[in-house]
Amino acid sequence: MRILLVEDEPKSGDYLRKGLTESGFTVDWVQTGPDGLHHAQTSDYNLIVLDVMLPAMSGWDVLQALRQTHDTPVLFLTARDEVEDRVKGLELGADDYLVKPFAFTELLARVRTLLRRGPTRESEIIVFADVQIDVIKRRVTRGEHRVDLTAKEFALLHLLAKRPGEVLSRSLIASQVWDMNFDSDTNVVDVAVRRLRAKLDDPHMQKLIHTVRGMGYVLEVRS
Ligand code: CA
Repeated sequence: MRILLVEDEPKSGDYLRKGLTESGFTVDWVQTGPDGLHHAQTSDYNLIVLDVMLPAMSGWDVLQALRQTHDTPVLFLTARDEVEDRVKGLELGADDYLVKPFAFTELLARVRTLLRRGPTRESEIIVFADVQIDVIKRRVTRGEHRVDLTAKEFALLHLLAKRPGEVLSRSLIASQVWDMNFDSDTNVVDVAVRRLRAKLDDPHMQKLIHTVRGMGYVLEVRS
């Protein structure tokens, strides 16, 4: 399992690299945003641990650029426990986050969860209306057109499509897709649904994702 660590602070970078290496991972450590992006785009990693505050290019910018082409899982490290930061990171397509300072065991637990969740082995293509979801290749088409989704948007659509016609609450979506308990911060779910809709539904007459006021979201064909 290969991990890319993007962290500019020498002490914590060295500490994390050692810890992850001792835990059996192959770790590449780089210290700037541009280096991080370059490595992430040109090498294959199972996971990227990405600090937000970086020289030359912030972790946000790295993530945003990376998500144009790659859906490698990203765990971001933020120094501020601000809701806006979390929402921003998840909105940009991060998979999880940790607030500094954190215990190494906490990082390790998150890393293992993300890797376990990684590319699924299910041999499966889900078809719903004119949408096809290839779970292995993580590829979505609607009609003739490819729909490019981030890892989170894909997970969200996958969840909805596994349970078509069933209203899924925001908190259930948050726990299934982000593995987190967002409490009242379900804004993250709304943001992700909005982005998914923009890609999947907006170009088409027939809308598939529906809001059920006060309850959540449902994937279904309505006449
Ligand atoms: Ca930093």
